[in-house]
Amino acid sequence: TMVTRFAPSPTGSLNIGGLYATLISERLAHQSNGIFYLRIEDTDKKREVKGSIENIINSLLYFGIHVDEGPTLSNDEKGEYGPYRQSSRIQIYKVFIKDLVRKGLAYPCFCNAEDLRRTRIKQQNLKVTTGYYGQWAIHRDFPFQKTKEEILHGRPFVIRLKSFGSSDTRIQYYDLVKGPIELPENDQDIVIMKTDGLPTYHFAHVIDDYLMGTTHVIRGDEWLSSVPIHIQLFVTLGFRRPEYGHIAPIMKQDGVSKRKLSKRKDLDSTAEYYKEQGYPGIAIGEYFMNLINSDFEEWRIANPRKSYRDFIIYTDKMNTSGALLDMNKLNDISKDVISRLTSQQIFDHLYTWSKEFDSELYTLIEKNKNYTVNILNIGRTIEKPRKDYSKWSDVKPMIAFYYDELFERDVLKGYKLPTNISFDVAKDIVLGFSKTYSFDNEKEAWFHKIKELAQELGFAKDMKQYKACPSSYKGHVGDVAMVIRVALTNRSNTPDLFDIMKVMGEKRVLERMQRLLL
Ligand code: GLU
Repeated sequence: TMVTRFAPSPTGSLNIGGLYATLISERLAHQSNGIFYLRIEDTDKKREVKGSIENIINSLLYFGIHVDEGPTLSNDEKGEYGPYRQSSRIQIYKVFIKDLVRKGLAYPCFCNAEDLRRTRIKQQNLKVTTGYYGQWAIHRDFPFQKTKEEILHGRPFVIRLKSFGSSDTRIQYYDLVKGPIELPENDQDIVIMKTDGLPTYHFAHVIDDYLMGTTHVIRGDEWLSSVPIHIQLFVTLGFRRPEYGHIAPIMKQDGVSKRKLSKRKDLDSTAEYYKEQGYPGIAIGEYFMNLINSDFEEWRIANPRKSYRDFIIYTDKMNTSGALLDMNKLNDISKDVISRLTSQQIFDHLYTWSKEFDSELYTLIEKNKNYTVNILNIGRTIEKPRKDYSKWSDVKPMIAFYYDELFERDVLKGYKLPTNISFDVAKDIVLGFSKTYSFDNEKEAWFHKIKELAQELGFAKDMKQYKACPSSYKGHVGDVAMVIRVALTNRSNTPDLFDIMKVMGEKRVLERMQRLLL
């Protein structure tokens, strides 16, 4: 079994790449009956953005990522290996730091900014670009008495790791995603505790991955170059290290080349964006599966009804070159996902989504619950699911005309009649139709009436008659139906007119016809 984690710093909203890595981590843990936990890496208080932790937890919930242990929304925690916020673990890090200093594996360094600047210049002059502990790094081997004096005098210090590495040596490890990797060994005396007594990321995360029992770390490959530091820390501390898998970032097509998603340039780089647009969380999960393993698509065809959570991810088959964010593909997948839902389920999603992101829609569907479910049900059958929405924000423009308030607003701008039909002719058609209209009609009878009416008013009986002599007719029978369609919906493209009338109900249909006759 695997124990994996997501270890974000609370510095803003979750980006889509982070979500991608997180879904992989969670699936790997749960497909092995293991544990997936959330750890908040908040030791850098300056960079913290208020509300990020809630945002992260909410996003994980929305996108169907099941967290077994970690901070919860009620400002609580679940799990036995906490605290799960690094800012609450400072005493734990101190224990290990003291131990390393006592063993001579780490040391207080009193260099100030100016010292460090001078060190850098010296390094440049000597053309050594790496290695902190040159001849000038005297603190590394300060006698105990001297160190004690400096501290007693209140001189600020950091704690540095005494690196045993050399940049001439290369280390090898097997990356779960990228395969065998060779990197230069870490030869830097990296800071493990800052002057404010807080640990650095590298140190804290190593301690926590160990104490929290992490077996596999899956993260973005921007961390690949830190692996030598992490491995050295594990060795120095005498801890068994987890396996690492570094995944390529999600990329965007930019002309002929690919580039990384940019937080500033790309609206669609945040997880929040997909929620705002109203992509169902499972659609994003399903889409990610496509990006992760190329054989997912085949699996999906063989298992159309299963949850993507039943698919087994193989890390060695993972995309190593940077998956491309393809919105068309996402939209198709999402349409498929939505088409498998019942009208009631679609309603429930729309209800929750609009409550947060579209108050006008929310008010309307809140007032018209059953009506909305019936609207959403139009033209949907099990055999032929409708694939018309890829996200909840697509729904309103498509169903707006059913609601009297929105219909009225649209009609105020004028009726969109076919160009060959004058308003007077349209009135004749609607008047004629409203006389024969009966709510109890069967579709066949009703359609027959339209044909009769068309002929009465001098329209062609069918297209054949119309085409034979277009000039002698006002229009063809389709125009008559179109006028009725416009009277009811003010749109030229709608689902089946008969279905619409059934859902609108007798009263509303008559009202709308009267509205055009005014
Ligand atoms: N706190 C790091 C981040 O914000 C976590 C890196 C890791 O997963 O080790 O990305």
